[in-house]
Amino acid sequence: MPTSNAAEPFSFTHAGLCPACDRDATFSADGPYLRSTLRCSECGAVPRHRAIMRVIGQNFPNWRKLSIHESSPGWDPVSKRLKAECADYVASQYDTSVPFGAEVPAPRLPCGSYRSENLEAQTFANGSFDLVITQDVFEHIFEPGKAIAEIARTLKPGGATIMTVPIVMKTKPSRRRARLEREVVVHLLEPQYHGNPIGTDGSLVVIDWGYDIVHYLHHHSGLSFMMVQIDDIDHGIRGDLIEVLVGFKRSVPDL
Ligand SMILES: [Zn+2]
Repeated sequence: MPTSNAAEPFSFTHAGLCPACDRDATFSADGPYLRSTLRCSECGAVPRHRAIMRVIGQNFPNWRKLSIHESSPGWDPVSKRLKAECADYVASQYDTSVPFGAEVPAPRLPCGSYRSENLEAQTFANGSFDLVITQDVFEHIFEPGKAIAEIARTLKPGGATIMTVPIVMKTKPSRRRARLEREVVVHLLEPQYHGNPIGTDGSLVVIDWGYDIVHYLHHHSGLSFMMVQIDDIDHGIRGDLIEVLVGFKRSVPDL
């Protein structure tokens, strides 16, 4: 018999519409850290997936007809849906085993193939894309200023980059955890790693971002950024570290 003061197992459920798979769903969590536990019954998405898909749909409801580049997709429900429903979708991965710009066959991945690209020095032509998507990528980039400048270069006027980045610093400025010196990683803080879509090793966390990321990305790209924070349980969007950033490449009037 359980004792009277035994902790109740955590359980939370809510019925709603999942933006990641666009289906009626039940969102269920078996632990209190909703960022990783609040999953969709239909597609398995977690809150940040639903948040970025909601922001894509609200700002670019015609996304299926647009030209989309996603850097470093992990083949979560968002990447799979973009690939499945957008005819002009290209996935890229930072793959140093082939020359940058090369198309790499990947029959086991939903994309079938991906393009090897260094986000900081891309081989795509200027103005190639309407949307550039990154999900939890910018905390792993050694030169994020170069990466966002390159994303801006490859966007068409009127396009945008839409990204999730964990804003972990809250009330403090962004800080660097590691830097590259002559191709050697120098750790400034205890190394932290996240999952890596194409490798068995984790991806090193290079920067702990704060809210000043908005100013940083604007400064290095000229894009007009906004940060979107959503709490909308009917769409299964609730939890920590699920901010979405949108950087618009505004068309300039020809006066
Ligand atoms: Zn879903």
